[in-house]
Amino acid sequence: MSPARAYVALGSNLGDRAAMLALGLEGLAALPETVLVGVSTVEETAPLGGLDQPWYLNQMTALDTALTPALLLTACLAIEQRAGRTRDERWAPRTLDLDIVDYGGLELVLPGLTLPHPGLADRDFWRRGIDELRNRGR
Ligand code: ATP
Ligand code: CA
Ligand code: CA
Repeated sequence: MSPARAYVALGSNLGDRAAMLALGLEGLAALPETVLVGVSTVEETAPLGGLDQPWYLNQMTALDTALTPALLLTACLAIEQRAGRTRDERWAPRTLDLDIVDYGGLELVLPGLTLPHPGLADRDFWRRGIDELRNRGR
């Protein structure tokens, strides 16, 4: 099967945010059966929902991957773990968050995985990241 073009978003609003993004990129670049083909510029955004939290650094990546969506998600969660992510309440500050925004245009709703990511509709910074990569041919 030919690899799928996936877009994975990185976000961090806890700790050394830039270092966390770098850890995330390193983790994605090291995935089996996967090539990290593009990385967007970093954008800083206010936390969603008007929560009183530190601002986020965000970055979009493009991957060519032969991992299934489920395996890619598992790998993303493992990278978050290695960055010291703890899961408290929803939308709590986090060292590193990896969201699969799109996987080859696939539409999928499973208990732990929705594609495309439902947040894409109202997260302009994700759209900008994807547009930036697509304009570069990624
Ligand atoms: P949001 O998903 O709205 O950005 P969040 O990133 O804070 O919120 P998390 O606590 O990181 O949410 O993730 C909760 C669960 O979302 C994950 O354990 C994962 O199973 C599920 N999930 C569903 N669809 C996706 C997706 N496309 N990418 C990443 N996680 C997803
Ligand atoms: Ca998220
Ligand atoms: Ca997430």
